[in-house]
Amino acid sequence: MGGTFDPIHFGHLVTAEAARHEFSLEKVIFVPSGLPPHKKGYQVTPAEHRYRMTVLATRNNPYFAVSRVEIDRPGYSYAIDTVLEFRKCYGKEVELYFITGADAILEILTWKDVNLLLQECQFIAATRPGFHLERLQEALPGLPVEGRHRIHFIEVPALAISSTDIRKRVKEGRPIKYLLPDDVEEYIRCHDLYLEG
Ligand code: ATP
Ligand code: MG
Repeated sequence: MGGTFDPIHFGHLVTAEAARHEFSLEKVIFVPSGLPPHKKGYQVTPAEHRYRMTVLATRNNPYFAVSRVEIDRPGYSYAIDTVLEFRKCYGKEVELYFITGADAILEILTWKDVNLLLQECQFIAATRPGFHLERLQEALPGLPVEGRHRIHFIEVPALAISSTDIRKRVKEGRPIKYLLPDDVEEYIRCHDLYLEG
């Protein structure tokens, strides 16, 4: 499961656990992204903070792990590079699944090497509130039939949680408790994250 994880929250964790259960996954590896050159007009928090928050959030689930592959690689990563890296690491017998929110999958389908990506891994897309599945249905016909069958959907409980909202809450002094793990909240406070921007 890739993401900016700025910060990681219960939406990510619930989705990962649901995917693990429904697809009987051996493990779920969270892959915090490297520092993007720009993202939605805000300054993304340094990778080391996002990595450490992801470790804190996942450490009590024995099936969860965190990878440094994207943050240790110079420059911004393409999904295909990361998937090929995991392929090299785990061998060709292993089935890889790319877990994402259904909103993000629309973007992914426009990425370079999408056909190669669909050969190397299947997709698990979690529907999230406010996302219209029809938009996705419209995008799918552009894909080869074999590829379409490798995109699966799961429904997660209505979690309107987003990192954007959490950052805004911190800045405005509103509570973030119950939106993310306590350890992550404490980390945010200790490091004065999200107070500006
Ligand atoms: P931001 O608000 O900064 O975009 P985000 O909450 O969307 O942050 P990301 O790190 O961008 O978090 O998301 C990583 C992945 O998790 C993406 O595939 C995204 O679609 C998915 N995701 C994010 N929030 C949720 C949620 N509440 N439920 C299910 N999936 C989610
Ligand atoms: Mg997002």
